[in-house]
Amino acid sequence: MREPILLTPGPLTTSATVKQAMLRDWGSRDAAFIALNRRIRERLLALAQAADSHVCVPVQGSGTFAVEATIGTLVPGDGRLLVLVNGAYGRRMVRIAEVIGLAVTSLSWPEDEAVDAQALDQALAADPAISHVAVVHCETTSGILNPLQDVADVCARHRRSLLIDAMSSFGALPIDARQTPFAAVMASANKCLEGVPGVGFALIRREALEAAKNNAPSLSLDLYDQWQGLEANGQWRFTPPTHVLAAFDQALDEHAAEGGVAGRGARYRRNHQILVEGMSALGFAMLVPPLLQAPIIVTFLMPADPRFVFTEFYDRLREKGFAIYPGKLTVAASFRIGCIGRIGEAEIRAALTAIGETMREMGVASGAPALRGETERRE
Ligand SMILES: *Cc1c(COP(=O)(O)O)cnc(C)c1O
Repeated sequence: MREPILLTPGPLTTSATVKQAMLRDWGSRDAAFIALNRRIRERLLALAQAADSHVCVPVQGSGTFAVEATIGTLVPGDGRLLVLVNGAYGRRMVRIAEVIGLAVTSLSWPEDEAVDAQALDQALAADPAISHVAVVHCETTSGILNPLQDVADVCARHRRSLLIDAMSSFGALPIDARQTPFAAVMASANKCLEGVPGVGFALIRREALEAAKNNAPSLSLDLYDQWQGLEANGQWRFTPPTHVLAAFDQALDEHAAEGGVAGRGARYRRNHQILVEGMSALGFAMLVPPLLQAPIIVTFLMPADPRFVFTEFYDRLREKGFAIYPGKLTVAASFRIGCIGRIGEAEIRAALTAIGETMREMGVASGAPALRGETERRE
């Protein structure tokens, strides 16, 4: 059975060696396992030049668990969170804050526009009660890159704490704690770091975490407690995802061998460029303007040709060995193709060939979308 190539934003394709790293059982108290955890935490901090200022706290679960744990741990009950929203992951942070019962407000933009640091500046000036700001670095909903440095500068100027959902950028797009002030960066093992799903983490400014004792409204998602446990004896409070961590350790070796953030980012940029050129040649159009597009995942507008039925397109591509991703947009009908995971030029070119073949099978001559106004009228 051939494994599919996952052109999705996660779970995504991992290397054979990452998968092989899971073929061993670890005792959670083994010295070698404790050392493995320490190594992972140190390397994650180093990726953001944050070793002197921040601590790394891993948490079991998918990326959302890490986001929820970080918000719940860091924003105190009498705080107020402002979320910058231009997609589903921003909306999810609002929802998390609501479920926790935190005071939360948001500033919103359409999914094909970046968030605006100037509007944030005004909002912070107008509302001194806002203690924390949350932003998504690369909004995976559309693939857009938000202006992280500008947002961080505004938050620093107003002395508000910044929480960054860098789930789909960490490890491929640089974030430098010495230049970009943040209270927390949240990410997971299974996006640009190319581990397997099952663990997330946050890099948290040490003083912010020290001040967060008893904040969390949850036992298992309390990152202060999780940190204290790890610092005390190097062990997780509750059963660690041992195999996932062993795979993560191997994935971080491979990340370093590829040249770290710069090397990983370069491969994804090449994937992205080949994908966009190939899809454009087939007539497809992208939602996000090129200058705002991150090399992580690309949103293509649904072709106008009525013979293009997405579920059929998806199934036929899947039969050829490629899994793509439905759209998650509210502004336009679309689908997405990811550039991340253990894939390179060969896989992207093979996917483009399969897409061309599939269009011929379906009798679709071009991937050109309806004009924007027409799409909106049709819906
Ligand atoms: C993938 C992702 C998450 C987390 O999603 P999970 O399904 O919980 O892993 C959060 N934010 C962004 C921007 C993401 O891309």
